[in-house]
Amino acid sequence: MFFRFLLVFFFLITLVYFLRNLVYYLLKGLGAGRKVREAGTKREIHGGQMVRDPVCGIYLPKDIAIRKVIQGKEFYFCSEECKKRFTSDGRVERG
Ligand SMILES: [Zn+2]
Repeated sequence: MFFRFLLVFFFLITLVYFLRNLVYYLLKGLGAGRKVREAGTKREIHGGQMVRDPVCGIYLPKDIAIRKVIQGKEFYFCSEECKKRFTSDGRVERG
């Protein structure tokens, strides 16, 4: 009798834990989507991988950075201006 109660108890804990993770993932997914949409106007530091802008040298979250692939290598920039200054042969234009 007690053993059965314990089994149900553990089952409920597992269920709650699973649901909690599910809700967390859903919220995180929605949050990330919103941040990408806002990236043009508002930039905020949040969790996630940080990448370095090779032009101005600042670090920024990968999901808001502007991506450019040059000779199969990925580069990330803080702005369109930095992206333009980084030439296709991997040099940084001064100015
Ligand atoms: Zn930059």
